[in-house]
Amino acid sequence: MKNKNKALFETAKRYIPGGVNSPVRAFKAVGCDPVFIRKAKGAHLFGEDGRMYIDYISSWGPMILGHSCEVVNEAVERHLLDGISYGLPSRVEVELAKTIVEAYPGIDEVRMVNSGTEATMSAIRVARGFTGRDKIVKFEGCYHGHSDGLLVSSGSGALTFGLPTSPGVPDDIVKNTLVAPYNDLARLAQLVDANPGQIACVIVEPVCGNMGVVLPDAGFLEGLRSLCTEKGIVLIFDEVITGFRLGYHGAAGVFGVTPDMACFGKIIGGGFPVGAYGGRREIMECVSPAGSVYQAGTLSGNPLAMHAGKAMLDYLKHQPAVYDVIEEKAAYLERGMRAILEEYHLPFSLVRAGSLMTVFFCERVPHRYDDVQKADLKKYSQYFRGMLDRGVMLAPSQFEAMFVSCALTKNDMDVTLQAFREVMKEMAA
Ligand code: PMP
Repeated sequence: MKNKNKALFETAKRYIPGGVNSPVRAFKAVGCDPVFIRKAKGAHLFGEDGRMYIDYISSWGPMILGHSCEVVNEAVERHLLDGISYGLPSRVEVELAKTIVEAYPGIDEVRMVNSGTEATMSAIRVARGFTGRDKIVKFEGCYHGHSDGLLVSSGSGALTFGLPTSPGVPDDIVKNTLVAPYNDLARLAQLVDANPGQIACVIVEPVCGNMGVVLPDAGFLEGLRSLCTEKGIVLIFDEVITGFRLGYHGAAGVFGVTPDMACFGKIIGGGFPVGAYGGRREIMECVSPAGSVYQAGTLSGNPLAMHAGKAMLDYLKHQPAVYDVIEEKAAYLERGMRAILEEYHLPFSLVRAGSLMTVFFCERVPHRYDDVQKADLKKYSQYFRGMLDRGVMLAPSQFEAMFVSCALTKNDMDVTLQAFREVMKEMAA
């Protein structure tokens, strides 16, 4: 059966670059072949290799209630035969927009798109149109999708312009992307002072999930808020991972800091390809056709995806205990893992924000990109492969989060902890 998986990967590589439709899925960072998934139910993935895996990827976030959950299935089944795409407005788009606006602090209007990448790319265009400024600031190690201007991760030195992370991204485009270290308000203030009246927006993951989980230091988000307010800069929270996951009101609700705009992703489509960006009315009224900033999408607001998302968000709204349940499950795992890591004297730091968690193989808790670079990637690969061998699917990179879902049973978690003990014992030897 393992060979069946391998054969599929070999064929895939002939027809798809690297054999996958998104790079992380190739498992390159952890030095093994990817597992092709045949189906998924609850907290379990079923591979083409004939094995079952306990899933801590959760489709990178949306599967808060687990895979193939009744709530979403029922909504999709009910509407499947009503037509899949109209290219014209429908009621459910209005309902989902209203649900998001009512849930998220400070957002008056929202525009649906088809991915997180589209959401952040569009939000930035709107922030530029609204302010009439060209430059943007992002933080090192934060990921906001693969649009040209955001594919910039490093800018060593305080006031540097960004360097493109990928060939094909023109320097001319990224010269408008300024990069500051995460959690460093002083460096941000320097950047702002050095570019007076030129910065349209600051975009941030309020809890960073894309260098592994890195928490905002106390006062960081508040500091961003006050600096942006003072300088007329649009503050954008990228809640593609955190929205409706850290809590029903997103990271904005958890930290009590309200941005001017926010971006959402996969979660609001119940796992369908959906994204959205929203903001204060005066900003969103710039968006075409209300205003002149152009942004469009043939499949945006796709009715089936809207029904799935609406069912999911309605459930989360009316069953707020979901958040207590995932918190308890994640805390149970954290306690167990921490005790095992300590028992085997492995240098580690375990960072958790609600149902998002990362084990870093470095002693100091990371606060920024430079810190996560100190993690021992060989150890992470060993950890990943050891867990995979024992039927536990973790993120195939140190620089990603582990996503806990409600569907995990006590048995799933105990199996996970037993596997974790065995792997840590091996790693300590
Ligand atoms: N923003 C954040 C915070 C993300 O984690 C991601 C991807 N996981 C994106 C944007 C891009 O979303 P997508 O992959 O749907 O384009």
